[in-house]
Amino acid sequence: MIPVEKNKEYVACIDSVSSDGNGVAHIDGFAVFVPQTVDGDKIKMLVVKVQKNFAYGKALEITEPSDKRCEPMCQHYKRCGGCQIRHIKYDAQLDIKRDIVENAMQRIGKFENFKVDGIVGMDVPERYRNKMVFPVGNVYGKNVCGFYAMRSHDIIPLDDCSLGDEINREINDAVIDYMNENNVSAYDEKSHKGIVRRVFTRKSFSANEIMVVVSVNAKLISKLRKVSDRIVSIVLNINTKRNNLVLTEENVILWGKDRISDTLCGVKFDISPQSFFQVNPVQTEKLYSKALEYADIDENTSVMDIYCGIGTISLCAAKNAKSVVGVEIVERAIEDAKENAVKNGIENAIFYADSAENIVPKLIEKGERPDVVILDPPRKGSDESTLTAIIKAQPKRVVYVSCNPATLARDARVLNDNGYTITATTAFDLFPHTSHVETVCLMKKKY
Ligand code: SAH
Repeated sequence: MIPVEKNKEYVACIDSVSSDGNGVAHIDGFAVFVPQTVDGDKIKMLVVKVQKNFAYGKALEITEPSDKRCEPMCQHYKRCGGCQIRHIKYDAQLDIKRDIVENAMQRIGKFENFKVDGIVGMDVPERYRNKMVFPVGNVYGKNVCGFYAMRSHDIIPLDDCSLGDEINREINDAVIDYMNENNVSAYDEKSHKGIVRRVFTRKSFSANEIMVVVSVNAKLISKLRKVSDRIVSIVLNINTKRNNLVLTEENVILWGKDRISDTLCGVKFDISPQSFFQVNPVQTEKLYSKALEYADIDENTSVMDIYCGIGTISLCAAKNAKSVVGVEIVERAIEDAKENAVKNGIENAIFYADSAENIVPKLIEKGERPDVVILDPPRKGSDESTLTAIIKAQPKRVVYVSCNPATLARDARVLNDNGYTITATTAFDLFPHTSHVETVCLMKKKY
């Protein structure tokens, strides 16, 4: 006969604390576990669950508190599942833990009269955790970040948890603010939908540094990977600009490689997402071949490739040239160019990440005297200081690759009026069915 019944109230004395931190009362010898109580408590309790050998109770009232009790110093303690014995004075907590070890050794291990030599406690038993995990969810229509309630996955919004660093609160607030401002949903376990699942923080005590890991329910990667095994790279690009769809420098590789590879004119190129790479490779090879033919490079020729991107023209030229200098404004593209040179075993090319208008005059000023200048500017064409520097350097040939005839014409006029003459021009259709046309123009020094 079990002497307790579910949903009935009992008066009891707590006589010990179990290994999982519950107070234990015995009613006619039958054990009832009562969370958040401690031996010495006299309580009124409700039995909430009855099993074969024990029951669970809930303290309704502490009629006589144990002298081991203290203020838990946490407003969430009653509901939160994180701490179990915060209502017990710290010294008493240590005694309980020592007893738990001794009991286990004696009862389970059968070591008779086993005693530990001592228990080592903390001087200040707060804010000791270097790792915290806060589930994120939606509670009554509000995004919240907090802790699971005792024995459940209901999330209790949490201001501060005194086991961790105080900064966790600000981090959690920032995540929730961000979600609210941007309509980012919280993950919902039941429907397995929604995005943000948890905020994980780790702190280095010695360096006082914090790592924040935001867990998301992102099925996008697996969805994309299922499309084809030809997909080798999935990248998240962070762009916060209002009207600008151009890829930013902030890439996070979500899966696979950080660059995709292709080959042009026998040279292998790795291409980062934000680096420029001609979009029509079949026609590009024809275009580059013509540009290189115009450049008429041999092992004595020094080349400057301005607006070089990932070094496509530079590296194709370098195979036959004495030396190549490449200039390009996008840093990532220059990193690609340098690595592409190494990967192709090309040692006579150097690259500068800077704007043409800034670096080309400086290089010429320092005495750089290329025999051939190749320039392949964006639609807005080149600019006065770059052209002036080219003219000053007096290369034998200028090969102008242009995607905009208007700016080509404007810049060719400047070169023409300063000692260069157009000797050959070929147009290429890199963009069939669109209005765009690419032009390669050879200009030679007149005298
Ligand atoms: N020659 C390369 C890239 C040509 S596209 C190829 O054929 O692949 C033009 C390049 O000029 C782009 O890579 C762009 O990033 C770069 N660019 C744009 N403005 C620039 C500037 N002011 N100075 C240097 N490079 C610039």
